[in-house]
Amino acid sequence: MIVSPFNPTQLHVFETALGERRLELTEKSQRLADTFAGVQSSRSDGSADGAHDAEASSLRTEWSRMSGFQGEAVEELAAIDRALQRIVDGSYGRCVRGGEIIPEGRLQIKPAADLCIACAETAAQRRR
Ligand SMILES: [Zn+2]
Repeated sequence: MIVSPFNPTQLHVFETALGERRLELTEKSQRLADTFAGVQSSRSDGSADGAHDAEASSLRTEWSRMSGFQGEAVEELAAIDRALQRIVDGSYGRCVRGGEIIPEGRLQIKPAADLCIACAETAAQRRR
């Protein structure tokens, strides 16, 4: 059985950090969704003349930038939820691949981290 290397007090600190990050992402994502809705309604007011091409193109750029963020936010939220689940089941702080202890310093920077440094490096190399 995989047991977390952290005591309940430490786990509570990580849980709080994860919860705050989750809230921050949810709010940012919601604000962007509102902006999307605003962009959409301003686009659909029927002005199809060429004078708006430059504006439309900058909107498209902005749009794809926001979509990119939304995709990342969804992924990070999923990672945060998995980390919170590991706090519940008691395996938080262990590498999900090899079961090694994930250094506390790494989790302080990235509380949703689910791999030890060695496994994360291997995963990053495979992606290249
Ligand atoms: Zn590992």
